[in-house]
Amino acid sequence: MNYLALYQSGELLQRVRDAYRRLSACDLCPHECGVNRIKEERGICGAGLKPKIASANVHRGEEPPISGTKGSGTIFFSGCSLKCAFCQNFPISQFGNGEEITTKELAARMLKLQRLGVHNINFVTPTHFLPQILAALWLAIPQGFSLPLLWNSSGYEKVDALMVLSGVIDIYLPDMKYSDDTHAVEISAVTEYRAFNRSAVTEMLRQVGHLQVDENGIATCGLIVRHLVLPQDRAGSIETLHWIATNLGLETHIALMSQYFAAHKALSMPEMECRITVDEYNRVVDVLEEVGLDNGWVQDHDDI
Ligand code: SF4
Repeated sequence: MNYLALYQSGELLQRVRDAYRRLSACDLCPHECGVNRIKEERGICGAGLKPKIASANVHRGEEPPISGTKGSGTIFFSGCSLKCAFCQNFPISQFGNGEEITTKELAARMLKLQRLGVHNINFVTPTHFLPQILAALWLAIPQGFSLPLLWNSSGYEKVDALMVLSGVIDIYLPDMKYSDDTHAVEISAVTEYRAFNRSAVTEMLRQVGHLQVDENGIATCGLIVRHLVLPQDRAGSIETLHWIATNLGLETHIALMSQYFAAHKALSMPEMECRITVDEYNRVVDVLEEVGLDNGWVQDHDDI
């Protein structure tokens, strides 16, 4: 892993220190709340100083190169910088359910998952805990930690924060949720999602390139973009696919998801309370094929 070289050179420790400094006027994500998380002030994501996790388990339901045969070691963080009205995990993302732990304990969870034989450690909704994740990695390495690291995020991120992860994260798994900022504001309460998201995935690709797998088909590094089709084209799916084809390249791996269902606040939003139709999903799949984005996965109609 590249992060082993960063550890040995002292660069990783320097990055941990620099990242923690940012918490005193938090600017880790585009919200730039400016709160002092060292003093336990809270911003939009609700995160404080200590990492807070909802679970640390072996997950077998990710994309095939991620879950492989032994599963992905998924660490699910509490809180989120997005307020998605339809979030299926809202008790964790919006209400902050979970357990506050130390970075030492986070390192221990990573090592435990490694002992269980997983292919990678999969940080889910990690953006607001970037410094704590780096610190846990720094603690885990001398105890024998050596798995690929996966950043499984909303894609609402700043390039300067992602640059701290260069050479640390092996696999990026970001969402591209919206191509229209009006819908991002209405549904997820975030401004300028499109610009931040597109800059973020471009930086991710710069760091890790397109998806690479080993002889067993297990991901070793690279980018997979996730896109969830929303009712009445609220996600702007077709525009996003054209943007990916033009700007990231036709080799890009895309996980195109049809599994939307109304949860949380979407249950009281007329435009969001229904599932997508088979026709809506098929139209997006057709565009995927028309533009030549052949790498990745589409879901069965059974998921609609
Ligand atoms: S990580 Fe949280 S506190 Fe920091 S800027 Fe983003 S939403 Fe605000």
